[in-house]
Amino acid sequence: MSIKENLDKIKENIAKACSECGRNPDDVLVLAVTKTRSAAEINEAISCGITDIGENRVQELLSKYDDVVPGVRWHIIGHLQSNKVKYIADKVSMIHSVDSLKLAEEIDRRCAPLGKVMDILIEVNSGEENKNGVAFEDTDELIRRVKELKNVSIKGLMTMAPLAASEEELKKVFSNLYQLSVDIEAKKYDNVSMKCLSMGMSGDYVEAVKQGATIIRPGRTLFSI
Ligand SMILES: *Cc1c(COP(=O)(O)O)cnc(C)c1O
Repeated sequence: MSIKENLDKIKENIAKACSECGRNPDDVLVLAVTKTRSAAEINEAISCGITDIGENRVQELLSKYDDVVPGVRWHIIGHLQSNKVKYIADKVSMIHSVDSLKLAEEIDRRCAPLGKVMDILIEVNSGEENKNGVAFEDTDELIRRVKELKNVSIKGLMTMAPLAASEEELKKVFSNLYQLSVDIEAKKYDNVSMKCLSMGMSGDYVEAVKQGATIIRPGRTLFSI
């Protein structure tokens, strides 16, 4: 299968999941996860219609940045150390993995001189094996602090389901995140939108779409040929 065929298949699966739950497929963004992929592969994906790409390591993003065609939106989806923010603040459109006030403050500090307001998602922890993400019950508290920062804008939530989760568990993880976003939206905080729900990878994006994902993050299933 080519990247084009893989992407067509993903789009088809999204359309099917959306028709089952009454959603519009246009409300689901396919964010191509490009870790371990070459700039040539990334450029091919872009030529197939991919507009947004996600990397989980700063070093790897920087090593490919100049070889990827301009205009695509870069996202950081993996754990981000505060001391690395300065290298990517001018390059990325969204950071999905904000799970501490310290990290949000550093993003704010590095974006201020650029005159940039960085779109961020709050990463919520959904399983013991994954140490990243803020605890579910601490999410509201973190958001109330981060929303005060002028150069970051909270656009929603992100999570990673446990890799070995059963279908039942996946459904629970994703629907819990969706409900959390609804509860936070209802508080009508200034500078906080819950428009984006980044959840679902190669193995679980169909369930994520059914539970309300607006950004899915497939890697292997898009690039394996
Ligand atoms: C690697 C990765 C993905 C994609 O995983 P696949 O199983 O290759 O689809 C999605 N999200 C995050 C945060 C990742 O690190």
